[in-house]
Amino acid sequence: MRTKKMLDFPIKITGNDALLVIDIQNDFLPGGSLAVTDGDTIITGINDLRTTFSHNNQIIFTQDWHPSDHQSFASVHSGKKPFDEYSSPGLGPVLWPDHCIQGSKGAEFASNLDQNMAKMILRKGYHKELDSYSAFLENDKKTLTGLNEYLKAFNVSRVFVCGLALDYCIKYTALDAYKLGFEVFVILDLTKPVITEKSSIKEILADFESNQINIIISDQIRE
Ligand SMILES: [Zn+2]
Repeated sequence: MRTKKMLDFPIKITGNDALLVIDIQNDFLPGGSLAVTDGDTIITGINDLRTTFSHNNQIIFTQDWHPSDHQSFASVHSGKKPFDEYSSPGLGPVLWPDHCIQGSKGAEFASNLDQNMAKMILRKGYHKELDSYSAFLENDKKTLTGLNEYLKAFNVSRVFVCGLALDYCIKYTALDAYKLGFEVFVILDLTKPVITEKSSIKEILADFESNQINIIISDQIRE
């Protein structure tokens, strides 16, 4: 296991840093089919990062991008409801309401998200039989999205992660990034969880701590 470096504040952004903006899509925002409470409140703060990550940094937006018969949807399994437990290789631990269907309004980025920041848009979850919480590996833990290789081609060594939702896509993206050798920072004020119970959030943060993942707030980062 690598040892965690002590952080010096403010954290200075360098050319080897990348920003991952995870799934800021209409279906995950209030009014969407899989809405994250207050998910819309982090968008302005994410837009503000464009001035912090100004060293020609890699800024990647991810977009959940499912076919309409995606196997993570409760609607495709007879007798199942959204949030019912379900587990099969590459899917689970629960089934979801239909969301982020390719080409739908719900799959679009929030209209007030500054898409001009993005150097690359990475779509994930498009294999019918596989879900993809992580931006690096799909839920079978072996199908690659290509993000690891992409970031390494640009000599990225540190990744800063924000977006939706803390307890799924942020969590798995951060854990995979660490396993793949990146130094990882989760920007806590620029993410929100699906499950808002304090105990669940505490568990995720403890998981980050034990995996050497840095938990920071956006004010601690500087250009
Ligand atoms: Zn999804």
